[in-house]
Amino acid sequence: MEEIKFSEFMIHLIFTIMEFKHVVSLFSFVRLPYKPFQAYSSGQTAKSIQTNKKEKPSHASPSSSFILLALQGIHAVEYVVTNTATGTPGGIRFDREIGIEYTKKIMGIINRFVWELLDERTAADRKPVEVVNLYVVEFNGAEAITWGDNINVSSIYLQGYQGNLTWEFTSLLYHEVTHVFQWNGEGQAPVGLVEGFADYSILKANYYPPAFAKPGQGDRWDQGYDFTARFLEYCEGLRSGFVAELNKKMRHAFNESYFEDLLGKPVDQLWKEYKAKYSNN
Ligand SMILES: [Zn+2]
Repeated sequence: MEEIKFSEFMIHLIFTIMEFKHVVSLFSFVRLPYKPFQAYSSGQTAKSIQTNKKEKPSHASPSSSFILLALQGIHAVEYVVTNTATGTPGGIRFDREIGIEYTKKIMGIINRFVWELLDERTAADRKPVEVVNLYVVEFNGAEAITWGDNINVSSIYLQGYQGNLTWEFTSLLYHEVTHVFQWNGEGQAPVGLVEGFADYSILKANYYPPAFAKPGQGDRWDQGYDFTARFLEYCEGLRSGFVAELNKKMRHAFNESYFEDLLGKPVDQLWKEYKAKYSNN
């Protein structure tokens, strides 16, 4: 994909969908195709769109089953999958090769994987998410966009994907579902770091494609996506539990000093040592 721009259409689309959905986050994150051996240009990772839409009161009333689960002390997340692109080539391909039932099932599996990865074992550790909505929507410009508890997957992307679509879709959802449950310092964390966490999930789930960055690649620690994921992997190697601890520290704020708090060195020094370790590759 060459120049990727958010057109007015995209913003319109987001606002249109937000009219109908209970939006808890003002930040959205997109996923772009991996570019092997090619650095992202500066700013290219900063694809989040900030909106000024205020949170709307939820129109959903708690169902009796939810109340029952609450009484039992179980925090269950519901997954609602909607194909809004039925009749389009991508929407038809989604129904044929992936389907709503598989999507709901894999979202639950990935949700539990992310809680484990981020060591969020109790309700107090977790984002209070009750419903995750996934829409298959006809739009251009990104593979998927997630904001708050809403994941939008591009039917045009699904239509054009060459290869095992179920595998690719699952990989994509590891990234997007991570966005739903990770902390982002209430918007203060660098977008590249937030995207790095999402790709770290893909890496640890072993759902990364051949074009995924190799250890040591990249120009900056917060370059984003697979580059930052590999750096997080390196940091995790220095201190087991680092990634989960960093995420926990990012619940309400972000400061680069969190790296030093956890690893005893400033992040820039850690990045230099990381690059040096793989300098011969
Ligand atoms: Zn993302």
